[in-house]
Amino acid sequence: MGKVSENLLAEHQVRKTKIRLEILDFFLSKKYALSHGEIEEAIDPSYDRVTIYRTLKSFEEQGLIHKVLDESGTAKYALCADHCVGHKHHDSHVHFSCTKCGHTFCLEEVLIPEIKLPINYQLTGYNFLVQGICKDCPK
Ligand SMILES: [Zn+2]
Ligand SMILES: [Zn+2]
Ligand SMILES: [Zn+2]
Repeated sequence: MGKVSENLLAEHQVRKTKIRLEILDFFLSKKYALSHGEIEEAIDPSYDRVTIYRTLKSFEEQGLIHKVLDESGTAKYALCADHCVGHKHHDSHVHFSCTKCGHTFCLEEVLIPEIKLPINYQLTGYNFLVQGICKDCPK
């Protein structure tokens, strides 16, 4: 189990368990957002769906990962940059969906432009997804 994931759990005040370390290690080993199914396939098969679901939920609540919707509306999760703490997420960046490899990436350096809503509309969240071909796929 990686030292990095142990430190991350400690920093975000998530109690260390084997499955949490395993899932976090898997996130750290990938550069793109992961779906529930991909996580399920990658980790020890003795863990059931509910356990994985709860682990992702607690990671999200503690500012470790954020939800990303890909172009089919499938929920994926991506590691947060280190400025997310607890319930206060600051992931106001654009997500990029590659039409060749099908992976979804965080473009942390590309910020979502300020959204001005009509009067009486209240903003509670956004999904800003752009499509194209990622840097690792042949153009
Ligand atoms: Zn976040
Ligand atoms: Zn790609
Ligand atoms: Zn992201």
